[in-house]
Amino acid sequence: MTTTTVRDVSVFGDAMAYFEEAASLLNLEPGMRALLTHPSRQIIFSIPFQRDDGTLEVYTGYRVQYNFARGPAKGGIRFHPGVTLDEVTALAFWMTWKCAVVDLPFGGGKGGVTCDPNALSAGELERITRRYAAELVEVVGPDKDVPAPDVGTTPQIMAWFMDTYSMHMRTSVPGVVTGKPIEIGGSAGRVEATGRGVSLVAFEELAHLGIANADARVVIQGFGNVGSVAAKMFAAGGCKVIGISDISGGYLNRNGIDVLGAMAYAQEHHSLEGYRGGERVTNAQLLETECDVLVQAALEGVLTAENAERIRAKLIVEGSNGPTTPAADHVFQRKGIIVVPDIIANAGGVIVSYFEWVQDRQGFFWKESEVNERLEEQLLTNFRKVREVALARKVPYRTAAYIVAIDRVTKSMRTRGVYA
Ligand code: NAD
Repeated sequence: MTTTTVRDVSVFGDAMAYFEEAASLLNLEPGMRALLTHPSRQIIFSIPFQRDDGTLEVYTGYRVQYNFARGPAKGGIRFHPGVTLDEVTALAFWMTWKCAVVDLPFGGGKGGVTCDPNALSAGELERITRRYAAELVEVVGPDKDVPAPDVGTTPQIMAWFMDTYSMHMRTSVPGVVTGKPIEIGGSAGRVEATGRGVSLVAFEELAHLGIANADARVVIQGFGNVGSVAAKMFAAGGCKVIGISDISGGYLNRNGIDVLGAMAYAQEHHSLEGYRGGERVTNAQLLETECDVLVQAALEGVLTAENAERIRAKLIVEGSNGPTTPAADHVFQRKGIIVVPDIIANAGGVIVSYFEWVQDRQGFFWKESEVNERLEEQLLTNFRKVREVALARKVPYRTAAYIVAIDRVTKSMRTRGVYA
């Protein structure tokens, strides 16, 4: 069996469950399935680096380029102690479908280094990043593979990556990474793009359900970049944000959280710990609060077979990657809870990354209002396409999103032909 090796690995194996459901509905032939369930390229390498005290250590770096049918690979770089080849492969697999479902001319990729960025100095992070970039010089580039920030990596890390690549190329190449600081070719609107996209798809779906924004109570798990920006956009759109949470716990206020106040508090204290603008609850209680919209913006695997029956939201919008297990998803289908899946709900970030890449290549930069307008157009046009497929085939949005994405990738592969 050609696919045995990858299926035996858990995260990637789980990621494949949703793909399989859609692939069966599309009657995808075995050869195409085999191609799409194997990453094009997986790279593992050693990263020797010098600690500030002069000692040498060796970390492990990864880059997975999952699919190139629609364009260069695209996906973030994760610096985290839990990074494995399996996890990076699953994330690269998701990126393939995320880029395709919002119709970007990119394939899927992801990378990472197994390390704890919180335990490293800025100088140590810079040396790891530069060695990581140098090891990948031949296989990344604006036309090959375009990394971006992910968990544990920042715009500054992208700047070091871009500088290292440019030094090797002997010319400045801003389009080699996205999520850069504005002054070296980053895009206006990139920082808020994912949270903005989460709120845009939620507003679109609320309107479809006949729920006015003014009547919508929103609960958000996670109050980092995605969660806090989404909260701000929901409040600005007239919804009532009744619950927020972060690693310190949950905060409920049925009269509505003062979102800007909570953001200022979190910024000052680096956490919501001690926040007094809502009743203190556990993260589990927060997720189970009755509401119209539940947004996950923290980690993977938070809605599971264990808690799915107790979820009392009408609409779930997945701001984080992989927050709902397949078992929980089946419970939501049975209960009639609508789920807007991660690959489209949090695609705002990669859409604006695409705009950043376009602007870098043009050497011409757009106003923030123009970026936001184009983001809305690209995201909602494709979300409406997913809804059309869901209604026509009587399947949930998640399956419909995979159907749209797989259809686009396989069309490109058939048109190009397989060099086999
Ligand atoms: P972040 O690190 O800025 O924020 C994460 C938040 O989750 C923090 O507030 C943290 O305290 C909270 N958190 C952690 N554990 C928690 C728990 N057990 N319960 C409640 N809250 C908890 O990260 P981010 O950039 O906002 O990303 C959030 C998710 O969205 C991740 O899964 C990421 O992969 C995904 N995502 C991010 C982007 C982006 O552009 N930032 C794009 C697509 C997907």
